[in-house]
Amino acid sequence: MKYIDEEEFNEHIEKARRIISESNNVIIFTGAGISTESGIPDFRSPGGLWTVFDPDIYANYNVFLRDPSKYWELERYVTKMLKSARPNAAHIAIAEFEKTNKLRGIITQNIDMLHQRAGSGVKCKIYELHGSAIKSTCKSCGNVIDRERLLEKMEKEDIPRCDICGNVIKPDVVLFNEPLPPHVLEEAIEELDNCDCFIMIGSSLLVSPANFLPEIAKKNGAKLIFVNLEPTFFDYMADVTIYGKASVIVPKILEVNNS
Ligand code: NAD
Repeated sequence: MKYIDEEEFNEHIEKARRIISESNNVIIFTGAGISTESGIPDFRSPGGLWTVFDPDIYANYNVFLRDPSKYWELERYVTKMLKSARPNAAHIAIAEFEKTNKLRGIITQNIDMLHQRAGSGVKCKIYELHGSAIKSTCKSCGNVIDRERLLEKMEKEDIPRCDICGNVIKPDVVLFNEPLPPHVLEEAIEELDNCDCFIMIGSSLLVSPANFLPEIAKKNGAKLIFVNLEPTFFDYMADVTIYGKASVIVPKILEVNNS
């Protein structure tokens, strides 16, 4: 984690609070880092998922089409983590902040559904850029299998298959080499048209096209606030970057607006 002294940290918190209190159209953009404190490791930090599973094998759509067994090994591992994960203070602060009517949308790269479980998505939309584990759509016949049914099937089948056509299925999460869910990115970009404050939380900003969103928001005139453990290549664009844990920082910067 990048070291930062307390005085500088507090100055950055104050600056972020000021920006948020002067804004009316806030967009929050989250990555895997917001959920690490809920027990779901990110991809690239030490101990991250990609240190255990090689993404070129386990999370590659072309490999899945040839041999789904590796993907299902990863999916079973992730399913265990999702079962025990709970929203943390950062997810909860965002859900509280939504009640103030300043939040226009949450754009997330995460598939863990923790924003919804924290209570977000009532007054504003959640854009899940990389899909979600909530359902599985059969690519062959379009049959939709909900999470509960999938979990039942996982008990009985090594590689779950569609109840209707028998094709191998997978949750609607986007693998490498797989197209993004239709329209979600376009709608998220449209949401940035009137955005005056864009808060990025817990992303390395290494995955494209999601990592273009801060720049689009900036070009539209938004102030950028970044909250992350480590620096990113895009920190130079941010009006304020706060290094540290999302569960500590997010409640602090959003708190002024909870009244
Ligand atoms: P990433 O692993 O590339 O980067 C995570 C970033 O979060 C890192 O820069 C790290 O320093 C920071 N971070 C880690 N813990 C943090 C904390 N407690 N507080 C603040 N920052 C913290 O993840 P990414 O940028 O989201 O990108 C890649 C992909 O990861 C996405 O495609 C996403 O679908 C996938 N992913 C999602 C989950 C999930 O749903 N929870 C988990 C792992 C990976």
